[in-house]
Amino acid sequence: MEKIRVTIWNEFVHEKTNPGVAAIYPDGLHRTIGRGIAADDLEIRYASLEEPENGLSREVVETTDVLIWWGHCAHDKVDDDVVKRVHARVLEGMGLIVLHSGHFSKIFKAVTGTTCSLKWREAGEKERLWTVDPTHPIAQGIGEYFELPHEEMYGERFDIPPDAKTVFIGWFEGGNVFRSGVTLERGYGKVFYFQPGHESYPNFRNPDVLRVIGNAVRWARPVFFRSLSAIKYPALEEIRSADPNAASTGIEQNLDGSAR
Ligand code: ZN
Repeated sequence: MEKIRVTIWNEFVHEKTNPGVAAIYPDGLHRTIGRGIAADDLEIRYASLEEPENGLSREVVETTDVLIWWGHCAHDKVDDDVVKRVHARVLEGMGLIVLHSGHFSKIFKAVTGTTCSLKWREAGEKERLWTVDPTHPIAQGIGEYFELPHEEMYGERFDIPPDAKTVFIGWFEGGNVFRSGVTLERGYGKVFYFQPGHESYPNFRNPDVLRVIGNAVRWARPVFFRSLSAIKYPALEEIRSADPNAASTGIEQNLDGSAR
């Protein structure tokens, strides 16, 4: 079986500007995630904001099966054309895994079509994540629940679309709950959002967190890549009731509305 081509995108700002974060993830949390999920069936590479085209050139996007995304303080610095390119590729089949503060990234807002707003609190409290869909491929190997000693609280209401399916619900020591693991399907692509991963805690070294991300990569692997558009389609049978006087105004269109 061919390897799954994984690109881990990290904004990579906190690790270079905050000594506390640098101590936890000296060479960037993307590389910690990559080392943590490394396996024979994965081909992993990295991309970050500061690179040309934010590290997501057409060539990189077109040779990525699953894109993992972490961003926080520089969502607005991500180029709109890059976001359009990534979004189009998700619709064609590329898997997308959005982590933690990536909930407010341009790409997650684009695929959800909602504000993705939520409540938050940085108190270093405990989180207990409950598996609410134990048969889901992403939950395999995860018990009834797992705990993170310290995590940033994310609380409901999380403004995501109603077709988001919940795999994990997070409960926080301070009393809030959150849909901490949700799946979406968009076009031919699969999307997973996973809440743990605040930069001040070493949770991308937690075995359960890494197992969930690894499972999500395999779940989100594309079945195929195929472009979508509005195409004129020939009738398969004779149409006896066709109106011979009707004017034809049909246009074959691309996803962006341009004529094909
Ligand atoms: Zn955070």
